[in-house]
Amino acid sequence: MIMRYSNLHTHSIFSDGVGTLRDNVEAALARNMVSLGFSDHSFTACDTSYCMKLEDYADYCREAEALKEEYRDRIPLYIGIECDYFSDIDKSMFDYTIASVHYIIRDGVCYPIDHSPRQQEECIRDAFGGNVLDMARCYFDMITEHALKLRPTFIGHFDVINKFSLMPEDSDAFRDISLASMREIVKACPYFELNTGGIARGWRKNPYPNDYLLEYLRDNGGEVLINGDTHKPENMTFYFDESVELLRRLGFDHVSMLGKDGFYKVNI
Ligand SMILES: [Zn+2]
Ligand SMILES: [Zn+2]
Repeated sequence: MIMRYSNLHTHSIFSDGVGTLRDNVEAALARNMVSLGFSDHSFTACDTSYCMKLEDYADYCREAEALKEEYRDRIPLYIGIECDYFSDIDKSMFDYTIASVHYIIRDGVCYPIDHSPRQQEECIRDAFGGNVLDMARCYFDMITEHALKLRPTFIGHFDVINKFSLMPEDSDAFRDISLASMREIVKACPYFELNTGGIARGWRKNPYPNDYLLEYLRDNGGEVLINGDTHKPENMTFYFDESVELLRRLGFDHVSMLGKDGFYKVNI
């Protein structure tokens, strides 16, 4: 069976992607995809280098809406936003939302979590006195709070803090911290993306969430959708086949995809 994919985590030149919204649609069509969602970064005042400008939200929605109409007979398009912890958004502007945490702010200093190993090391050292687990606790408290407040359509790259392998990912303590957060979130928001973006950029060998977190979702009413966190249109379905294999190996029998009436299940 050849699986047809959807991708709801896509960045364009409205934020830090390299393609236009249309380039992403064409990439999805070239791959015979079921649907595509746009999800550029929400505005964050602490770092404006990679996100949408506030004044661009309306243009982004207008352009996406026009493409939706133009391509309506070829592929369903959805207008989303990747909403950071430090952003305020009007959810009614979007078809769906992704809750993500990209920064920790301590003593007025903004530390990007997933930009570079050096910046994450600085955060561990300067904001948490070298205690990696304190940083992990802070990050997972933030994603929990963000999810429960925003009530997003799904959770973005849940354990992105593992991107640079600076966390003791397989220790009991780290497991406990991350699983406690997932336990809280899954009750309110069961949808988590499986995100292949860290692999596409050469940082990770496995998607987010990691295997034990995926197993927790499998056993506790969580639902998984496969996303690319695409910053280059040609990476639209990067590592998707392998992700399906991974999910099968872990005992999943379906993934979720977004339709016009919400999520539906697709057998794998
Ligand atoms: Zn993100
Ligand atoms: Zn993203």
